[in-house]
Amino acid sequence: MSLQELTEFIVKNDFPKFRAKQIFGWLNKNVISFDEMSNIPTNLRLFLESSCYISVANIEKRLVSRYDNTVKYLFSFNDGECVEAVVMTYKYGHSICISTQVGCKMGCTFCATGKSGFSRNLTAGEMLAQIEAAQRDLNVRISNIVLMGMGEPLDNFENVVKFIQLASSDEGLNIGARHITLSTCGIVPKIYELADYRFGITLSVSLHAPNDQIRRRTMPIARKYSIDELLQACKDYFKTTGRRVSFEYSMISGVNDSDANARELANRLLGMNCHVNLIPVNTVEGTGYLKSNIKRQQSFINILAENNIAATVRRTLGSDINASCGQLRRKHFNEGGK
Ligand code: SAH
Ligand code: SF4
Repeated sequence: MSLQELTEFIVKNDFPKFRAKQIFGWLNKNVISFDEMSNIPTNLRLFLESSCYISVANIEKRLVSRYDNTVKYLFSFNDGECVEAVVMTYKYGHSICISTQVGCKMGCTFCATGKSGFSRNLTAGEMLAQIEAAQRDLNVRISNIVLMGMGEPLDNFENVVKFIQLASSDEGLNIGARHITLSTCGIVPKIYELADYRFGITLSVSLHAPNDQIRRRTMPIARKYSIDELLQACKDYFKTTGRRVSFEYSMISGVNDSDANARELANRLLGMNCHVNLIPVNTVEGTGYLKSNIKRQQSFINILAENNIAATVRRTLGSDINASCGQLRRKHFNEGGK
């Protein structure tokens, strides 16, 4: 609930208005039960217990990387469904990558989440719960959020919008919209809808190919929306919000990583205010895809640079702990978990 919704609920049930603010404050202090709300009178606590619930993400598994401080979680919710989240520590603070759905409908062929099918959407509360659980566990304040875990955020639009509002509001987690990034495989009409909210968040688009032909091989969504339509939506996003769009490009050996692919990509992005993140693809069992070698990565990035396209090869954190999208849940599932 937003503070406004909570206030309406409290007043409607004949409790004083100021209690709503107190309760809302507790919810943003990572509490997991109404019992912990020490300044709330017992009758109100009992009422809340009988009529409401607090979304909690339970830690099923927790893996810490030996190479860096990356922590990967497998969280479960009340119905037993599991999602993944990863906390990465940078010089500027702690960043969390959270899930927006249990599974995903989009079926990208390189992605472990896509391979496991779709179960259900997460609520805004369940997205917040992932952050709260990590903050509680690590005893740190998370300062950056990326919606890049399991699921397609724009396929769970209403809940994701509500989450962004709650996470960025002063009374909520108070994480500025500038510190929130949403990654999408490119559901074009929803990009326009998102732009209209003018949140000021960063939009990251999973492009992964320089043309429709290659893109359709790995990303079923590309059969619905062409690259031209997608890039037009990105340009519009920049025009409406003033926020530079970034593109994710997972380099898959022999699929999308040739010099010709780099030149075609540079051509397409020419004149756009954007940034390209090159990611050597994480090998997922059963996909047959291999990451591009260092020489290929270098050659690809050089061609983009020669064409004035800002690009970086993303540092891979937590490579020893299945830190990429959907791999841990898949493993858990294969070992007999839900
Ligand atoms: N559904 C959204 C956000 C979650 S996926 C999206 O697709 O953008 C987050 C990012 O991980 C996407 O850029 C996705 O393409 C990428 N990804 C998925 N599987 C990957 C893999 N095996 N190796 C590298 N990147 C991968
Ligand atoms: Fe879904 Fe993103 Fe994975 Fe594609 S890459 S299947 S959109 S989670």
